[in-house]
Amino acid sequence: MNNPFENAKKQLDLAASIAQFDPNFIERLKFPDRYVEVSIPVMMDNGEQEIFTGFRSQHNNALGPYKGGTRYFEQVNLDEIRALSFWMTFKNAVVNIPFGGGKGGIIFNPKKVSKAELERITRGYIQKIFHLIGPEIDCPGPDVGAGSEIMDWIMDEYSRLSGKKQLAASTGKTLPNGGSNGREEATGFGGGVILREVLSKNLISSERKTIAIQGFGNVGSYLAESVRELGWKIVALSDSKGGIYNENGIDLTKAETHKKKTGALRGLPDSKDISNEELLELDIDVLVPAALENVFTALNAPKVKAKMIFEMANGPTTPEADEIFNKNNKIVIPDILANSGGVATSYFEWYQNIHNEKWTTGEVLDKLHKLMSQAFADVYSIQQKYKTTFRKAAYILALERIKEKML
Ligand code: GLU
Repeated sequence: MNNPFENAKKQLDLAASIAQFDPNFIERLKFPDRYVEVSIPVMMDNGEQEIFTGFRSQHNNALGPYKGGTRYFEQVNLDEIRALSFWMTFKNAVVNIPFGGGKGGIIFNPKKVSKAELERITRGYIQKIFHLIGPEIDCPGPDVGAGSEIMDWIMDEYSRLSGKKQLAASTGKTLPNGGSNGREEATGFGGGVILREVLSKNLISSERKTIAIQGFGNVGSYLAESVRELGWKIVALSDSKGGIYNENGIDLTKAETHKKKTGALRGLPDSKDISNEELLELDIDVLVPAALENVFTALNAPKVKAKMIFEMANGPTTPEADEIFNKNNKIVIPDILANSGGVATSYFEWYQNIHNEKWTTGEVLDKLHKLMSQAFADVYSIQQKYKTTFRKAAYILALERIKEKML
């Protein structure tokens, strides 16, 4: 069994081993500052009580308030949440925003409860962690299974309990409730910026310009849009129910309509149904995991034929798989760089809330573009200096920034 938190700490050790950092400093980062498990009793629509389990992990706040998403998923567990909070610390440092790392989650499937139940679960969760969060302390954002409406309830419940309206108590909200223009597409858009920067360095030869995306949720679908603008062919897509393949390229609009209508990508006319495993082993240029962690392990990594792995999910590659990718000369663009556009725009939302401003989509995406390009340039210069992987370079960059504030 792959424990994401153990994997995260291994990544840190591997990066720290090639640069000169005080071992005590590195050791401290292996422990979240604090994490809690809470029980959330909720009266369900049928009149019966159910107790849900939730978590919040606050990893490090040297750079600013803890910041990170909220995951609503049946398989959520404490080690996963601790790992995700850890990655947030590094991600926020890489993209250079004044936030530390945090993450939360509740064990349940949000698709299996009613809207009223979803609201009660969310408000119950905030009541249990209220004393630990706040705009200047720890600011929850969206993640798998928890979108804008849930972020509205978090902000509202926090405001209610604190006795004053506090828009900056969460990010990823709907527009009328203090959300930011551009937040919805931000993670995918930011990934597109990084992909462009990477391709401009000619690290892979790519005459065919083929790409496959595992995961077609918020992140995967907006990344697909950016890729389309680049003139690349998306030959395969998948969701939790399976994948589709078309060597001439999948028509995104048709795929979206089909998924809305049938609830799945499979069965899209003109394309072949494939399994998620088959998608990972396709002979293509770029492979994008955009779902969950532990997708690549020692077992399937040797079978990956793509030249580049572009991590839009958090933690999709175990350290063992990473080693295999390096041996096989694959370029891996790490999660803490590739998917940082989401939280970067959460920072813009938080900033607008605090300063009572409203920026246009153009302004937000323009700022995001600059921030992402700079993050890539910063990682790239370290990668060149140490002649190492992009993952280790991103960690070293983050460590330098955190160290400066922590010591
Ligand atoms: N869930 C996103 C991430 O993993 C963003 C969280 C946020 O905006 O706070 O980066």
